[in-house]
Amino acid sequence: MKFNTKTIHGNQKPDEAYGAVMPPIYQTSTYAQSTPGGHKGFEYSRTHNPTRKALEDAMASIENGNYGLAFGSGLAAIDAVLKLLKPGDEVISTNDLYGGTYRLFNQIFSNFGIKFHFIGMGTVEDISSCINPNTKLIWVETPTNPMMNIIDIEAVSKIAKQHQLILAVDNTFATPYLQRPLDLGADIVMHSATKYLGGHSDVVMGALVVKEKLLADKLYFIQNASGAICGPMDSFLVLRGIKTLHVRMQRHCENGRAVAEYLAGHSKIENVYWPGFEHHPNHEIAKRQMKDFGGMISFVTKDSSFKDAIKIIESLKVFTLAESLGGVESLAGHPASMTHASIPKEEREKSGVVDALIRLSVGIEDVEDLIEDLKQAIG
Ligand SMILES: *Cc1c(COP(=O)(O)O)cnc(C)c1O
Repeated sequence: MKFNTKTIHGNQKPDEAYGAVMPPIYQTSTYAQSTPGGHKGFEYSRTHNPTRKALEDAMASIENGNYGLAFGSGLAAIDAVLKLLKPGDEVISTNDLYGGTYRLFNQIFSNFGIKFHFIGMGTVEDISSCINPNTKLIWVETPTNPMMNIIDIEAVSKIAKQHQLILAVDNTFATPYLQRPLDLGADIVMHSATKYLGGHSDVVMGALVVKEKLLADKLYFIQNASGAICGPMDSFLVLRGIKTLHVRMQRHCENGRAVAEYLAGHSKIENVYWPGFEHHPNHEIAKRQMKDFGGMISFVTKDSSFKDAIKIIESLKVFTLAESLGGVESLAGHPASMTHASIPKEEREKSGVVDALIRLSVGIEDVEDLIEDLKQAIG
């Protein structure tokens, strides 16, 4: 089955009770048993729920994995992965990381004796030099947020395999429409399903997909034991979102390209960060590992300050000033004061997240309206 068909039919079948084409929202915490242990596969909804199961199976299918796990948020999914570790273990991670992930690593798990190395991952040597006998996990985000650097998943997976490390990839920005990390050698794919998978800015959810049963069993144990699951209504919404992922992503990519090219040609713009440009430093890797280049774009206007960036964002009328990304509607954000405010200014600026940086999540509206909006706001 090819990708577009999988988004609609992957691991799905009509509901057994009445043939409902979409799985019912099984809004129940528990399930009747005929005798103790005599149930139909479901006992208690923290452990399993049929609506969540339908979604988890769909997620596994579109990521070319065998096992899907859905959580109450992207961060809850990351939290579950980190719980595979023990005090003394070390993690190598990208330095240009989603702010909430950085905070979880640096302010929660570091208190439990786990050590983190935040590095560039521009070359494979950067990673090798951090590996020691305590290293257990490599955490990769690509494209990175908000600088749109591309990390070579296949190259990182070779090192991970060589040293028997778990490689986890946050695939939130790319989605399986653009890249499938498990096919490139990753062990775990993570999503903030809040973003493109849900796609309509109406739900907060996280997901993990893996291929290996042993790893899946450990994660299922953590999912059930820690309990950060999502509810049946949210599961239904994200399952519905996934069914149009391919058509939405195609338009996000088309609009993203048009907006990136418009900004690059604007006299007041200093820099546009979008992996589709031939001059983007990781363009070749992006071309190899991604089907297209997505709708996430960051840019900086010339000689601009914190205040100038805020002024542009506040002037936008079609783009909504908001946290988050990946919905049908276009959003604009100011990483330094919003998504990345929890990263110290010095750390932030080292990876390019300067005060004047603006990040766009280009939606699927008519692109002429988006460009017109940027034109009036930038001037
Ligand atoms: C939003 C986001 C997260 C966190 O997900 P939540 O659903 O907000 O908990 C993690 N990684 C990336 C890249 C994100 O954009």
